[in-house]
Amino acid sequence: DLRVRFAPSPTGMFHVGGARTALFNWALAEKSGGRFVLRVEDTDATRNRPEWTEGIISALDWIGINGTNPVFEGPYFQSAYEPQHREAVAKLLAGGGAYHCDCTRELLVARTGSEHKGYDGHCRERGLTEGAVRFRTPDEGVTVVEDVIRGRVEFPNEAQEDFVIARTDGSPLYVLANAVDDITQNITHVIRGEEHLGNAAKQQLLWPALGATPPVWAHLPVIVNEQRKKLSKRRDKVALEDYRAEGYLAEAVVNYLMLLGWGPGDDREIMPWSEMVPLFDLEDVNSSSAFFDDKKLRAFNGEYIRALPIETFEERCRPYLDPDWDRELFSKVAILAQTRLTVLSEIRQNVDFLFLEEPVFDQASWDKAMKNSPEEILTGYLARLDTLSWDPDSLKAALEEVGTAHGLKLGKAQAPVRVAITGRTVGLPLFESIEVLGRERAKDRIRAALA
Ligand code: GLU
Repeated sequence: DLRVRFAPSPTGMFHVGGARTALFNWALAEKSGGRFVLRVEDTDATRNRPEWTEGIISALDWIGINGTNPVFEGPYFQSAYEPQHREAVAKLLAGGGAYHCDCTRELLVARTGSEHKGYDGHCRERGLTEGAVRFRTPDEGVTVVEDVIRGRVEFPNEAQEDFVIARTDGSPLYVLANAVDDITQNITHVIRGEEHLGNAAKQQLLWPALGATPPVWAHLPVIVNEQRKKLSKRRDKVALEDYRAEGYLAEAVVNYLMLLGWGPGDDREIMPWSEMVPLFDLEDVNSSSAFFDDKKLRAFNGEYIRALPIETFEERCRPYLDPDWDRELFSKVAILAQTRLTVLSEIRQNVDFLFLEEPVFDQASWDKAMKNSPEEILTGYLARLDTLSWDPDSLKAALEEVGTAHGLKLGKAQAPVRVAITGRTVGLPLFESIEVLGRERAKDRIRAALA
């Protein structure tokens, strides 16, 4: 049975690239009725923090990867398996597949005459019983990594040094721990980022040496930004948590991430998870780098927001509104806002005018809107508000007339009214907004703007 794993290192905020890797694993496990193992690779004690682990688990949960689905197994923690890692090293030493080495870097450089030459095998036959442990690699031929995505990748063995698998203090190295865990957890498919292809060359040798058949390898293409540079924490917005906080919907993020290197094979892009899963195949993953297009993700998100049932939309907006803001009042404008948002956090600036005592005041918006005879417009409109029938059409007709009287088209005449009512130059449809605000409050705001 198929068993895949997702093996994040808890050394920082959970990255969209990690989420893409997790989702590809998850899709394959779900499709094949296999298992998805979550293994937290927490062996780098200097860089790990428990809050990063919690962050990963909660971010995975947010995108639907959690134990409510029986496909999920774990989490396992790599640090708990150190005895197994040490045992594997001992076994390799005993069988001659590995040996101790006490060469310092300086000695090696002195011998090989170069900073860049790999290890020269000096200690191979010395029979030391202490020092770092090196894995004995073949000197000739090639090591082949059969990668589902990249095809046959050949690594000439003469270029592969006898690499270190345990430090002088006996602590196992990552490349070994990772392989041992995969073997112990009966992993059949290793699906991970392209940056691990070099590890695969070593692990392709380690697995048989540890008595196991190497897994199916699949190294996912790198994700790049607009400048075709690898997505990075310093340059780009990469933390899943930030997308979540800004009001991206998990469904939209999942949909978008699935398209980074994969596609359903037709022109469709917006597609729910349940429809993507049966179509997903590692064979169809592209090996060229995938462009993370923030604008496209926003557009996806807007589509997903518009597709929400209105009650769900209102619910999802709540975290961005003050808890004491009246729900019924919000319901009256929610439908107007739903079609306009690209991220949920934008809801606040669209509706706050309804709940605040006075609209937010922003000098720049004010100056911009108050250019063309604002007093005449505001005074004229105010005079009409008492008697007109309170609906958007009448509100609009009245402003049109006031504008015409002062030689202004509706668009121009609207500007000072909008700023007086909402404090902003852009927002929800103006006349619907005034209607919901109510006659008295609308009049108060225009009076205040004139004062
Ligand atoms: N812990 C590794 C990482 O965070 C993953 C290694 C693997 O998937 O084999 O990049």
